[in-house]
Amino acid sequence: MTNFLEIKVVTNKRTEMIDITGEISDLIQKSGIKQGICYIYCPHTTAGIAINENADPTVAKDMLHTLNKLIPIDKSYLHREGNSDAHIKAALVSPSETIFIQDGKPALGTWQGIYFCEFDGPRTRRIWVKVSN
Ligand code: ZN
Repeated sequence: MTNFLEIKVVTNKRTEMIDITGEISDLIQKSGIKQGICYIYCPHTTAGIAINENADPTVAKDMLHTLNKLIPIDKSYLHREGNSDAHIKAALVSPSETIFIQDGKPALGTWQGIYFCEFDGPRTRRIWVKVSN
C-alpha cells in the first residue's frame, strides 16, 4: 500500500517526450485539493520528468534532437546494458518535478506543460504522483 498515486505511460519510440499535463490535472482535480503541492516522480533510471513549453510541439522535438546529438548511443560506454546514453539523459532531465496547486489546478506558466521523457523506449512506464495540501 502506497501513499501516492501511480499512472502508467506507454511509450512508442526510443526517445520521446509525452505531455502528461492532462493526466496530472485530472489527479489534482480528483483529489479535491484546491491549494497545495503536487510531486511528480519517475521511478526509472532511463526516463525523467520535465516542465517546458507545450504550446509549440517543435520545442520538445528540438530538445530531444539536441539531447540525442549531444549524448548519442555509443558502444564505447562501459555499462554492459548498452544504454548509458539513456541513463545520462535521464540524469540531466532529472526524475522529478514539484508544482503548486492553485484553485484545484496545476499552477503552470502560460506556455508550460509537464512531460514524461522516455530515453530507452518503447516501454510501459510508471509515474508516481503525490497530491498534498
Ligand atoms: Zn542501463
